Amino acid sequence: MLLIQRVTAVRLTAVTAALLLALPAAAWNYSGHCIIAEIAYERLTPQARARVDQMIRDHPDYKDIFTKDAPAAVQADASSLARYAFVHAAPWPDLIRGDARFYDEANPSAHPTPLLPGFPDMGRHATWHYFDTPYSGDGTPVIEQQPPHLMTELPRLLAEIATADSQQAAYDLPWIEHLVGDSHQPLHLTGRFLRSQPKGDAGGNFVFVEPGRTLHSLWDDAAAPRDLTDDDVIRYAREITADYPAGPPPSLDPTHWAAESFELDKSAVYTFGLETGSKERPLVLPSAYEEKAKRIARERVALAGYRLARAFNTYFK
Ligand SMILES: [Zn+2]
Repeated sequence: MLLIQRVTAVRLTAVTAALLLALPAAAWNYSGHCIIAEIAYERLTPQARARVDQMIRDHPDYKDIFTKDAPAAVQADASSLARYAFVHAAPWPDLIRGDARFYDEANPSAHPTPLLPGFPDMGRHATWHYFDTPYSGDGTPVIEQQPPHLMTELPRLLAEIATADSQQAAYDLPWIEHLVGDSHQPLHLTGRFLRSQPKGDAGGNFVFVEPGRTLHSLWDDAAAPRDLTDDDVIRYAREITADYPAGPPPSLDPTHWAAESFELDKSAVYTFGLETGSKERPLVLPSAYEEKAKRIARERVALAGYRLARAFNTYFK
């Protein structure tokens, strides 16, 4: 979840927003989303691969974003390029938040940008990336997140992609790759409310931890470093799937994935108590906390990849 839109969503003061904008944040980071897509692509049936390869080629950003940085050897080989495009399409919903062609449709003062060829709309859809399952830490009343959000949009996209027209399906594909990933990041599935934070912590974006980061970004970065090369994405995908092999056929129900993530919020994320830290005085988490976060994040990334593959293999027979 990128911080800026979430800041807008909860209408923080300009001072707080300026403070927070100095901090980095993404969803799972760029590499994490690519690893999930890589794990999925390796497990697609030939039929499903053929369908998603065509959809990715139909996307208006295929040339200028998805395949732009592919090495020459990848560009020269059709099947390598198809894999590369699928993998590097997964972070796209985060990239459009900083892309001037798109606008923040949830912000009433934002000006709509012109509809460009190939796109069904030009919204940034920042609220699609998360659903703040209300979590009251100390009995403080909670605020329900209004749709559209992750748990309205991901089921809708999954239901429509197999029968959507080619333009819509091409648009939906990177969103599905991305949101299946986000639904497995525990902090995309909650907001904690405290007497000290009655408007919520926006998925840990307002909890500050050492060294100079938010709880949300600690979890976003827990599965893999931010800027892996494509070769490293492949290597991480292999290592993570070796450590967390696929079990029985995975659940295809996003509400199940979300419930798992929320359980992790209670059992593994907010285990440090009711403190929130501040930018000046960030929390010092127990030394084992980050190691455990890394293990959980890697397992969530593996599960997201397996489930993404099963979804496409089921829809594209
Ligand atoms: Zn996201």
